[in-house]
Amino acid sequence: MSEKIVDRRAVLLAAGLVAGGVLLDGGPARGLARPSARRPATPDEAWAKLREGNRRWAADASTHPHQDLGRRAEAARKQEPYAVVVSCIDSRVPPEIVFDVGIGDILTVRSAAQTIDPLVAGAVEYGPAELDTPLIMVLGHQRCGAVTAAAHALKKGAKLPGHLQRIVDDLRPAYERARGDVDRMIRINTTMVVADLKAGELLAPRVARRKLKIVGGYYSLDTGKVTRLV
Ligand SMILES: [Zn+2]
Repeated sequence: MSEKIVDRRAVLLAAGLVAGGVLLDGGPARGLARPSARRPATPDEAWAKLREGNRRWAADASTHPHQDLGRRAEAARKQEPYAVVVSCIDSRVPPEIVFDVGIGDILTVRSAAQTIDPLVAGAVEYGPAELDTPLIMVLGHQRCGAVTAAAHALKKGAKLPGHLQRIVDDLRPAYERARGDVDRMIRINTTMVVADLKAGELLAPRVARRKLKIVGGYYSLDTGKVTRLV
């Protein structure tokens, strides 16, 4: 952020023009130095935090937490994200927005239809393995374009160009189990990714010791709500 922008924000803060928690919490000085709330330490606490944030988002009551200079400074020294969200690349499903979180709160891993290969799985494993992150949420979503395109290609027996065919191949088992129904395929694919991650040799012992939960969810583009699948 440039100094100019910082100065402008300071002026706005002093004038009381910036909405949100900073001024309400006791003025700009205290707001900037405000310690963050305790990081959720267990899988269930982490899910509760994500669920609260999603409820705010769905109700058009987002508070945009942890998006101020104080949080930036705090997180610059150390990150302690409490969840990994594995979601689709879709422009309408940015995890930080749909769970109303901010800097340092979650790790996000995104691929088409949240498909995983060894490289993506390694990125997912980083949080639990290195940062003790207690929750992984795999998030599918309504009207997923990647799943829809894969379903069409599989139905017609068509080959997609470039690396797109890799995505189609990966989604074939979900297509077969869903018998071609796209919305069922989205949900089945999400639960299959959860199962694949749970079976991984690095994550399985953490799941068994209950230090980690791997859950699946479905995001509705229409309502903004995330519902748990597994
Ligand atoms: Zn998608």
